[in-house]
Amino acid sequence: MENDLLIYDKWDLTPPDILPRSTLHSLAPIGVGSSDVESLTSYVARLADSHQVTTGILLIYQIAPLISLLLPHQSNIDTKIIFSKLIDRNSGAANGVGLIASSLLLAIEQLTFRPELKFLTLLSWSGILHDRGLLRPHSAWCPMCYEEWKEKNLTIYEPLIWKFKIITTCSHHQVFLSSKCPHCQQIISHLSSRSKPGYCSKCHQWLGTLHLSQENMTPDELTWQVFVTNNVGSVLASTPYLLKIPYKQDIFQNLKRCIDLTTSGNKQAFAKLINSAKQTIFNWYEGNSFPQILALLKICYCLNISLFNLLTSNIYDIDIHNINDLNPTQCSKMNHYLPFDEIKALLLDYVDKSPPIPMEKVAQEVGQNIRDLYRFFPEICRSIAIKSKKYRHYLSEKKIETLYEQAKSAAIELANLGIYPSDSKVQNHLNWKGHMKNKKIRDYLAQVRRELGFDK
Ligand SMILES: [Zn+2]
Ligand SMILES: [Zn+2]
Repeated sequence: MENDLLIYDKWDLTPPDILPRSTLHSLAPIGVGSSDVESLTSYVARLADSHQVTTGILLIYQIAPLISLLLPHQSNIDTKIIFSKLIDRNSGAANGVGLIASSLLLAIEQLTFRPELKFLTLLSWSGILHDRGLLRPHSAWCPMCYEEWKEKNLTIYEPLIWKFKIITTCSHHQVFLSSKCPHCQQIISHLSSRSKPGYCSKCHQWLGTLHLSQENMTPDELTWQVFVTNNVGSVLASTPYLLKIPYKQDIFQNLKRCIDLTTSGNKQAFAKLINSAKQTIFNWYEGNSFPQILALLKICYCLNISLFNLLTSNIYDIDIHNINDLNPTQCSKMNHYLPFDEIKALLLDYVDKSPPIPMEKVAQEVGQNIRDLYRFFPEICRSIAIKSKKYRHYLSEKKIETLYEQAKSAAIELANLGIYPSDSKVQNHLNWKGHMKNKKIRDYLAQVRRELGFDK
């Protein structure tokens, strides 16, 4: 029997190399390298859905804590505050060019190990594209795209191109994008606790339909929108393949050459051509300010060049016999990106905002001219302005009370040291710069001195 025993090879007990695992499902983003690339906010909502949790749960338990770990300057900030910066009213910036987008991206990349998620935002263009006038404050969608995707069993998502303020139509269906839920009539945030692409985050109903009743687009509007969508789309599609993002200085040179080649450097003539103010053109020419995306597109439209070329190659040749006219109606339509109802709903949101925000800031956030807002919504604007004025008054009263207290304690301290608490002595003692110029404070200090037995 003993001779029957076999000796087997030794087992190799070294653990095999296992690649690191991502914390969350490494969900593939849709359409990277195409004009229909997904937006980061859409990806976050789909990621939550793939884990069978709400977007709110994903953001508060995974993303916000990670952001506070990854960004040292955010580490003292409560995760609830980070969460609040990512959702609802603030979520428009999450697909953009700033810190909110970069923080969210960093966290999602770390959680999913997907390297290509940057192209779901405009971060490649930060430092070049102005965030003013760039993205919509609230969601917009094409109900026909949603319905078609559903019928074809395709993934429902929100393309990045729908997030642009200047894009008001769907290029596939040539209809206006919708921005109000047809069931509950509410506007929808890019990201909220219950976001799910294709559904209203307020009433949770399906937003797709093939039967839209809309006002007709004028030929001018359509021409402009086709141009804008094609140009923005080709920038989105090409960004992942760019070897390097151009320098802003090179684009300034392009703008200068455009003005030189088209109107021989005549800024006034160029301003007239693209329907802008002369001073604005002057500022671009001198490199003092950079055009917002709408202005860039107006230049491209008039001069028959593509936005991608204006941003990435040197322009030396413009066919001045082939200049397009930009008629004023087309321009005024372009400036009113948001439907009336949507602007009104946005403004109403600000009426009860705490702390109240001044109208100048509201106009900036809504992306509209303050004079237009007062013209169309005088009551709402006045009520926002009154609340903000009252709040400013309250803050200044509170501040002056603090200054009174500081002045009084300083006067008492000086008096205890046997020093006469004159205005200048108190000022130096407190290291104040300008507060003593305020008559109210000087009067109060005089009263304190009398109470302390000086200046009888
Ligand atoms: Zn569509
Ligand atoms: Zn709804």
